[in-house]
Amino acid sequence: MTIETSKALTLSGLTKVYPNNVKAIENINLEVESGDFFALLGPNGAGKSTTIGIISSLVNKTAGRVSVFGFDLDKQKNQVKRNIGLVPQEINFNQFEKAIDVLTIHAGYHGIPRAEAGERAAECLQQLNLWDKRHTITRHLSGGMKRRLMIARALVHSPKLLILDEPTAGVDIEIRRSMWDLMRQINEQGTTIILTTHYLEEAESMCRNIAIIDHGRIIEHSDIGTLLDKLELDSFILDLQSPVDTLPDINGYHLSLADSCTLIADLTREQNLSELFSILSDEGITIKSMKNKTNRLEQLFMNLVESPKANV
Ligand code: ADP
Repeated sequence: MTIETSKALTLSGLTKVYPNNVKAIENINLEVESGDFFALLGPNGAGKSTTIGIISSLVNKTAGRVSVFGFDLDKQKNQVKRNIGLVPQEINFNQFEKAIDVLTIHAGYHGIPRAEAGERAAECLQQLNLWDKRHTITRHLSGGMKRRLMIARALVHSPKLLILDEPTAGVDIEIRRSMWDLMRQINEQGTTIILTTHYLEEAESMCRNIAIIDHGRIIEHSDIGTLLDKLELDSFILDLQSPVDTLPDINGYHLSLADSCTLIADLTREQNLSELFSILSDEGITIKSMKNKTNRLEQLFMNLVESPKANV
């Protein structure tokens, strides 16, 4: 029996202690709404993969409950598995099979009849722009195509929840951007997505809601806007076209010179960089290039750790 729920995922009191007594996660409580694009963000070793592993039945939990679209992992494991598509970090399909076979065989694992499996495989390959490559032996695919095939495989049994574990770790910017577009598209078509990442920018550009995990505990669980509001200052290093001796006094902006060609600008959330650029330009100062001074994720972590919300 299905319990009608708007929740794609509910975790309560989820805990995992590995045999060597490493407490990977402790008392994780989390809710993801149906249709959401949700990020589980945290540094390496925080417990993201362990959490994902438990939800996808790859890791046994020590304590707690998992519910996926109202199905309880302990009592209705098959229904939970049927509703989840997992894209693991490592490329793990058979590199000697054809792309289409990777999908049909996977559909077979989920008990999808052969004819239907063929149709679904074709649909997924088309959606992920791999139809032309359906007969290619997978080891001959490019890195980006292999990543897309991993997503196609995860979608072949039409899961309502797609979980991607660090899908863009180690991929170049171009592939990363095209994967972001694909993930957005899949979400817009109605699939709930949970993404683990240690890139704040990735979560920021795609996700509506976010949980931050650190040392196995959830330290923040909110929508992305609320979270970014905690970043009070954004600091930039601006390289100047020509050296300056002193800086003009620009009302409200906190500026300093690291050396005659390098300006540090600390902006509050209300201030904006393009306005600063035009004021500087009026003063005869031209900016050659710029970069973020602080690692925003680190800054966010520092702010959160200063006022932790215990496992919301
Ligand atoms: P993340 O995915 O955020 O990088 P993990 O879930 O992989 O974090 O790891 C969380 C913690 O659990 C880490 O301290 C890690 O060393 C430990 N851990 C993960 N897998 C195992 C395992 N199979 N055996 C023992 N400890 C593990």
